[in-house]
Amino acid sequence: MSNCPVCSENKGLRKIESFREYTIYHCPSCDVVYSQPMKNPGSQWYEKGYVDDNMMNEFLPLPIIWWHRQFLESTETYGKDLLDIGCGTGRFLYEARSLGYRVSGIDFNSESIRIAKKRFGLNEVERLSVDALSAKYPEKKFDVITFFEVLEHMEDPNKFISQVKALLKPGGTIALSVPNRERVLDSLGEGDYPPHHLTRWSKKALRIFLEKNGFEVRSIKVKEFTVDDVSLVMTHKLVGKAKRKLTKGVATAASENRSAPFILRNYQLIKKLKDYALRGALLPLIPALKVLKLNGWTIFCTARMK
Ligand SMILES: [Zn+2]
Repeated sequence: MSNCPVCSENKGLRKIESFREYTIYHCPSCDVVYSQPMKNPGSQWYEKGYVDDNMMNEFLPLPIIWWHRQFLESTETYGKDLLDIGCGTGRFLYEARSLGYRVSGIDFNSESIRIAKKRFGLNEVERLSVDALSAKYPEKKFDVITFFEVLEHMEDPNKFISQVKALLKPGGTIALSVPNRERVLDSLGEGDYPPHHLTRWSKKALRIFLEKNGFEVRSIKVKEFTVDDVSLVMTHKLVGKAKRKLTKGVATAASENRSAPFILRNYQLIKKLKDYALRGALLPLIPALKVLKLNGWTIFCTARMK
């Protein structure tokens, strides 16, 4: 068995499960769960098979996600130059810009980039990898780099974090989120398996990883389990397949330059209505969840380069 791809240790590696051609291991030294082989399917795969919900309808208001709020509502100051890796359709950058950040973003998906430019007037967004960004603008450095739900997709987390570091100004800050492995409900389904997610993180694993890579962890917070988590499970379990079909339909329509059918164009609205209905039905659970304070599905973390 090869060594842990995150901390290079080989002591006590334990097989957790098999999934298709992958085997999933836990490393007790760094507490990361990883898949073998650990191979990112590449930008083509993301461009074809990975469609942001926000792309479903360009005109409806897009949601601000929990991890975005953690960053945007923080009173910490980090400096003005911000890069978002995996910026998607740019909703976060749009909000950050309104707070006074000079924002840049990169993403694998050219359709997301197109929407970010068109809808939010974001000029500094490009379809680039971190590597390509450094090569294109060797002088460009940032005060803060954000990467929400990105790390778990990386086939070499150490290489990725060192590339991020190279783009930071001295003492710069990173803000990120990863799915929380220690969540009480399996709310991500197949989405949490390779080739989609190559690693799974706990608070402990994330802290060890960042400290080993020269960062001082400033804040680390697990999202509290709420009705949203329940709603997410239901979405994945009930409509996962249908949704993948829908997203493909939208992508195809967009690539052929025609507008998608009604149900696709209004997917975001339909989803909103479904969420409201679901939340309404789950309302009686809220007081119990408030008392129980269970672990939700994602971790937000900020860390400063030492
Ligand atoms: Zn390890």
